[in-house]
Order: sequence, then C-alpha cells, then structure tokens
Amino acid sequence: MAGLTAANKLYTAAASSLELTVVEGGSRIGGRISTAEFSGDRIEHGATWIHGIEGSPLYEIAGDTNLLISDQPWECMDGALGDPVTAAEGGHLLSPAFVDPISRLFTSLMDFILGKADIQCLVNGGDLSVGSFLRRGLAAYLEKEKKGISVGRWSKRSLQKAVFAMHESIQRTYTSATDLSSLDYNAEKDYVLLPGEEITVAGGYSGIIDHLASVLPDGVIQLGRKVEKIEWASSSCEGRPVVLHFSNGTAMSADHVIVTVSLGVLKAGTSSEGWNLFHPSLPSCKAGAISRLGYGLVNKVFLHLSPSYRDNDGFPFLQMVFHPSDSELRNPKVPQWIRRTSFLCPIYSNSRTVLSWFTGQEALELEKLTDDEIIGGFSRTVSNLLPSQQHNEISQKFDEVLRTQWGSNPLFLGSYSYVAVGSSIDDMDTLAEPLPKYGGGDSAPPPLQILFAGEATHKTHYSTTHGAYFSGLREANRLLKHYNCIN
Ligand SMILES: Cc1cc2nc3c(=O)[nH]c(=O)nc-3n(C[C@H](O)[C@H](O)[C@H](O)COP(=O)(O)OP(=O)(O)OC[C@H]3O[C@@H](n4cnc5c(N)ncnc54)[C@H](O)[C@@H]3O)c2cc1C
Repeated sequence: MAGLTAANKLYTAAASSLELTVVEGGSRIGGRISTAEFSGDRIEHGATWIHGIEGSPLYEIAGDTNLLISDQPWECMDGALGDPVTAAEGGHLLSPAFVDPISRLFTSLMDFILGKADIQCLVNGGDLSVGSFLRRGLAAYLEKEKKGISVGRWSKRSLQKAVFAMHESIQRTYTSATDLSSLDYNAEKDYVLLPGEEITVAGGYSGIIDHLASVLPDGVIQLGRKVEKIEWASSSCEGRPVVLHFSNGTAMSADHVIVTVSLGVLKAGTSSEGWNLFHPSLPSCKAGAISRLGYGLVNKVFLHLSPSYRDNDGFPFLQMVFHPSDSELRNPKVPQWIRRTSFLCPIYSNSRTVLSWFTGQEALELEKLTDDEIIGGFSRTVSNLLPSQQHNEISQKFDEVLRTQWGSNPLFLGSYSYVAVGSSIDDMDTLAEPLPKYGGGDSAPPPLQILFAGEATHKTHYSTTHGAYFSGLREANRLLKHYNCIN
C-alpha cells in the first residue's frame, strides 16, 4: 500500500521528469493486503476492515471503483453484529447478565486509556502498560464484588476473570501485541481512529491496490526482485548514490529509494545477529527506534463446516471462555494453542465458513500445525464449549481450513506495529526521517537517498492500511517538493 501509493503519486504528478521503478520481492503486489477465495467466498488473508470511512482515501477509492458492492458472498462479518453466544470450557452457556458487566468494565477501562472516559478511583496508577492498568481495574472491580455460586468446575470469580481474559485476547488482536503488558499505556491515547463506520471491502481489498497500480505503465512494477542490500552514500554507480542489490545477484542504481518493507523486515535487517540490509548501517537513533518499536503477529483461520454439521440456526457468533493456561481444571482435549483465542464467527450471517483470529505465540504455533491438527483441535473445542454438540464429540465439524502465515513469511515476519513499553510515537517519527538530511554545505552528500514509508512510520495511524497510504503519499510529496514539482 505505501509503495504503490507513493509510485501512483509520483507517476501522476511527474511522469515525464522521473524514471520510476517499483521492486517487489514476492510474486504479487499488495503485501499485507491479499484477497483470496475460500469455499466459494471472497475472503481476506490480511487487511480486512477500513477502520473508519470518514476521510478515508481508501473508502473513496473503493467507492469510485465499485468495490463496495459484490455479487459473490464475502467476509462482511455482519454475523459479528448480532448477540454473541458466550460459552465457557466444560459446556456452560453464560447469560448476558453474567457477561455484560465484565464486558462493560473492560470497555470503560479501555475508554479511560484512550482518553474517552473518566473512571473514579482508578487514576494515576503509574501504569507503564495497558495490561497492568487493565489488571488493576479488574482487581478493583472484583474487590467490591460479592462471592457467588460456582458454575460446574468454575468459581464465580474465576469465570469473571476468564471472561475478562477473553476481552484481553480480542484487544491483543486489535493491537497485535503478544501480551498487553508489552503495550505502552501512554501511547494509546495518541492513536487516532478515522471517524465513521468500519466496513469490509465487498469487492476485495486487493481491488484498491489494483487501482493504485493501474496508472503505472507495464514494466514499472518488477516482481520477484528481493532486495538483499541497500548500499547508500555510494559513489560507485553511474553517479547515483544508492545501489539496490537483489537476491539473484543483480543490482540497480537510483537517486532515491523509498523503503516500505515492514517493521519486522527492518528489525531482521538491522539486528546485530541478523543480516545487514543497509550499508553503511543506519545511524544509531534510527536503529534504536526500529528495535524499540513493537511489531506483532496476527493470523486468521477460516474453517468450513462439514456437511454432517447440522444446526438449523446456523453456527453462532461464539465467544470462547477458557480456563487459564496454568489451571489444573483445563480439559486436555482443548489444545493449548486455542486457549488465548476469543471467538469463532461466521463470515456473514448463516455462512458455513467461520473465522477466528490468533495473536502472538499461539499465532506462530498455528503456522506450524497441519490442517488435520487445526480441524481436530477446533472440532474438539466446539464440542467442549457448546452443550448441543457434546454428544458428537469426536466427529470432525469442519472439512476445510485456511490459515494465514504472516509470521514465517520472510517478506513480512509479522502483521503490524504497535508502541511497545520502552518506545514512543516519537520513534515512528524517527523511523520516518529520510537519510541523509539536508544541510552541511557544498561538500554534503546528496540528500534524500533513502526515505522510509509504511504503516510503522505513521505516528497516529500506524498498523492500518490508511496509515500506510498516508505514509506513501508523504514520501512522494517529499520528493516532489525536493524537485520543485509541488510547493
Ligand atoms: C492478518 C492481518 C490483518 C490486518 N487487518 C487490517 C485491517 O482490518 N485494517 C487495516 O487497516 N489494516 C489491517 N492490517 C494491516 C495492514 O494490512 C498493513 O498495515 C498495511 O497493509 C501495510 O502496508 P505497507 O505498505 O506498510 O507494508 P506491506 O504491505 O508489508 O508492503 C511491503 C512490501 O515489501 C515487500 N518486501 C518485503 N521485503 C522485501 C525485500 N527484501 N525486497 C523487496 N520487497 C520486499 C513485501 O512483499 C510487501 O509487498 C492487517 C494486517 C494483517 C497481517
């Protein structure tokens, strides 16, 4: 998104005065945007939502290019708008009267963190992380709560804690933080959501990418060109200061390169143990920002219900509540890797395809499992959670699975960035700074040799597609200004 937005802007503004190439290491364009098909439905491997349609350039493109309608069923997630069924391990359906107070507590604690609400008695805790604040809020709530009767093997308190943990798991997915204790408390209120409804793209998110790429003449986008080394401040090649070295041994020189690889790839390419993407190495302030910022992993799992699965009401929007990983009350048939996942939801009302999101360690573990292990694990878990399914414990409830593998793919090494404890949004600004800067007199090296775009370089809209879009536009405009193509 960032690279093609920059290319689109540069080409439309100054096609005649620049020589432009987009190099992509993979075999397709779109990066973390990738629309696909699963069991006849249109689904998204990566970016799924336009987070706020008001003022979103992506919503505008989607509208202009007929992507807001579809004649094929797609992952519209309208099932998630209905009332969820909340089920606790052991087959206990929890009433809204039990779940809602904990859900409201979680929402109001998050609203407080985001600066949207005030909570008396819970201010100035000196919390460093979102996780520690949330746990303090839960403890304060439970202290005032009367003990209640137990449900099966659950005490009232352990069940309340587990419902709270389910909300924490959902929050981990939003942020991609492995653990909320690694998510910086102060940075959360600086994050900006675009206003308006959040929607999925009926015609497929990749359509937005295709639209951006469509202005570029054939040959501008070169696939399969994985950059292994970016040599800058170089005097060796055709008078141009930057040389890209590709994995197939070829090279290309340039006056300017906009680097849009993910923060995960930047981390791998600048760590002392890893390979060195930049020669010379990046200055320590930039390398420090890259290493401090958080970059997590989120994966999606799509499961198709097998023909033998019959339920007249369709599969519910199922919220899953588990005993914690260290509890002796855990049912061994529910695999460990499912225990920090929070829901299973049809991708549209009455769809026979259901979706779950995974974050962190469990998301990475999922990448290594076989299809049969995933289908078996989910089948046993659904049997355990839903009393109506329990007589049917061993049958396979699903016959097809698709899981994404963003963590092990060397072109991404994760999903999206967040502000980790120990970093701040200033690190995103540092990451966005071009090298070398202007100044230093006549003997100074040519400025703007390497520029940085990509979601992780946008300090208020990081982690999103529109953040990536804005960052690509920012760097294209920086170059156009440099050449006096715009004011
Ligand atoms: C599972 C998942 C769900 C998401 N859901 C949402 C959502 O609902 N809404 C939302 O707004 N955002 C979502 N996102 C985040 C969103 O997809 C990203 O923020 C955005 O697409 C990032 O765009 P980018 O241009 O910064 O980076 P990328 O899309 O990562 O582009 C970088 C490009 O560089 C290429 N590359 C990497 N290394 C090299 C190399 N060495 N040489 C050459 N090329 C290389 C990659 O192949 C890639 O094409 C989601 C992401 C994931 C993974």
